[in-house]
Amino acid sequence: MNNCKYLIFLFFSFLFLSPNLNEESLNLGRDKDPRVVEDISKYKLFYRKSIWKVLSYIGGRNISSLAFPKSISYFNSSNKVALTIDDGFCGIDNPDGDMTKEIADLLKKYNAKATFFVTGSHILNTKESDIVNLLKNGNEIANHNMYDIPYKNIPINQFENDLIETKSILNKFSKNLPKWYRAPHASISDDMHEIIKKHNLKHVVGDVFANDTSIPDANWISSFILKNVKPGSVIIIHMPERGIREWNYLALENILKGLKEEKLEIVTLTELEQKSAK
Ligand SMILES: [Zn+2]
Repeated sequence: MNNCKYLIFLFFSFLFLSPNLNEESLNLGRDKDPRVVEDISKYKLFYRKSIWKVLSYIGGRNISSLAFPKSISYFNSSNKVALTIDDGFCGIDNPDGDMTKEIADLLKKYNAKATFFVTGSHILNTKESDIVNLLKNGNEIANHNMYDIPYKNIPINQFENDLIETKSILNKFSKNLPKWYRAPHASISDDMHEIIKKHNLKHVVGDVFANDTSIPDANWISSFILKNVKPGSVIIIHMPERGIREWNYLALENILKGLKEEKLEIVTLTELEQKSAK
C-alpha cells in the first residue's frame, strides 16, 4: 500500500510539473514541452516512458478516482469510448501550425467523433470554416479555459472571467455547448469546482492518458493507449500542430485504427454519457 501511495505521489509530481508563470509562458503553458522529437534526448525519453509504464500498473481509473474524486473519469459502456482532444486548436505562437482540417478528415475516415477541449486563446490561427466543418461532422467543442495554465495558482475571479470569455468565444460556433469542462494541467481546487458548478458545467478528466506532451513517440503513445483503454474509457490526447507535437497525428491515426479493430465505437463525451448504463 505504501508503495502504491508513493507511485501515486510520483505520478502527480510528474503530471503537474507546472511552468513558471512569467509573462511569456502565461499564454501557452507548454514552454517546457518538447516541440519536435529531436528536442528530447534518448535517455530522457526512455526515463519518461519507464516512469509512465510503472505508474500505469496502478490503473488509470484508480488514479483518477483517487486524485479527482469530484470529477468524471469514465462511463459505463460495453462498446463505446470517448475521445477527447485537448488544447484545440493551435497555439498563438504557431501561426502556420493549425491542423484542424487534417484531424477532422482523420476522424471522418475512421467514422469517429471527438470532444475538443478548446483553449480560448488558441483559436486565432484556425479557419472559422474548419471549426464549422468539424462541428458539422458531429464533433463537439468544450471549454478548456482561456490559457493552458494551472488555474489553481490564479485568483479565482480571474479563473471565472476566463471561463466566461472562453464560453463566449466558443458560442460563436455553437450556441449549445456541451456541459463539459476540463481544467488545464488538471489543476483544480474546491473553489474552482464551485465556479464550474455555478456555470452548469461538469469537470471531466479521463482514465487513459499517455503523457503525450512529454513523450514524443507516436507508436509508443498509441500502444500505451490501446493497451490501457476499456469500454467506457475517456481517452485524453493533445491536439497536434504542424511543427509542435505533430507526432500526435500519427498517434491518433494508430489509436483510431486500433479501436476500430477492437470493435469499440469512438464517440463524443456527450454521446458516451447519453448511451451509458446509469
Ligand atoms: Zn491543456
